[in-house]
Amino acid sequence: MNNIFVYCEIENGKVADVSLELLTKGRNLADQLGCQLEALAIGHNLKGIEAELGQYGADVVHVADDARLAPYRTLPHTTLIKAVFEVEKPQIALFGASSVGRDLGPRVSSLLHSGLTADCTSLEIGSHTENKTGKVYDKLLYQIRPAFGGNIIATIINPDHRPQMATVREGVMKKEVIANAKPAQVKTIDVNKFLTDADEAIRIIEREIEERKIDIKGAPIIVAGGYGVGSKENFALLHELAQVLGGEVGASRAAVDAGFAEHARQIGQTGVTVRPKLYIACGISGQIQHTAGMEQSAMIISINNDPAAPINQIADYAITGDVSEIIPKLIKYYKKN
Ligand code: FAD
Repeated sequence: MNNIFVYCEIENGKVADVSLELLTKGRNLADQLGCQLEALAIGHNLKGIEAELGQYGADVVHVADDARLAPYRTLPHTTLIKAVFEVEKPQIALFGASSVGRDLGPRVSSLLHSGLTADCTSLEIGSHTENKTGKVYDKLLYQIRPAFGGNIIATIINPDHRPQMATVREGVMKKEVIANAKPAQVKTIDVNKFLTDADEAIRIIEREIEERKIDIKGAPIIVAGGYGVGSKENFALLHELAQVLGGEVGASRAAVDAGFAEHARQIGQTGVTVRPKLYIACGISGQIQHTAGMEQSAMIISINNDPAAPINQIADYAITGDVSEIIPKLIKYYKKN
């Protein structure tokens, strides 16, 4: 009762990074609230899953292991989560803002009449005073996300309904293994008790998995280009620098819209969120919709011909100059060293 639940996405035995990020965050929130962190593992062939989820902070894992539950389908997963939540009455329930979480979270919240904040970029525990009644709600989940086209960062609370539910963007939180963690305690979900024929209404006849050719999320170094790079041809310089440094190429939305780079490279509010060790922003002005996806990089270097570009406010080093002059010099230097 009153614990924090994290829905863990599992595909072919692999737990999604976003779920491990949420467990790490959930552990921190549970410690602040003095409650337990519980994971939901729904799929097939999940033997031993409690060891991995325990490493990321789960105290308990509710396991539903059945051939009907993999690959993911909306109806059976929704039914089982609703059944568990009705008994366990969590105070907080978290899902990744992935295609699965975006499908599942709103359905569960709608069935439980709990409401949900989509696409959060941060979660905190705070208290809130309700102005009209003067009532103080202690230790609420602050669900933080960009709003109004990214022009403000909104804090959303849900004082009256439980669970407080959110989907959280992939990559915005760190995943961290706890040293010497114990395996989580297993609670088995009785699948046959809850699933009905109605949950089988949708059958998967065939699955085609498209391989992601570009995946910049895990790159340790990102050389990102903006509209200031000027052309698709000039982006070739960024690819060369990224190759020399052992990194990947990212892009702003303006660069993607102009056709300089593929959409899969877009970083920011409507692209991916990254947190590399080094982020080199080339010809990027640094609008909030872009920085929302990269400001947690360990080191940021900006190359911009405008010394007043907003990106310089968050950069550790700002190089003022033309990208087409600076980047060849960097390539030459790093090739030598
Ligand atoms: P610009 O703002 O045009 O900046 C170009 C920069 O290059 C300038 O600072 C200029 O000084 C510099 N420059 C020009 N020439 C050179 C040169 N030769 N050498 C060096 N520097 C040079 N944007 C994203 O990036 N990601 C998102 O996910 C995203 N989502 C959005 C969602 C919404 C709802 C909205 C409304 C906007 C979104 N945007 C997003 C767009 C965002 O607001 C900016 O328009 C965009 O980030 C600007 O891209 P930019 O910095 O490349 O271009």
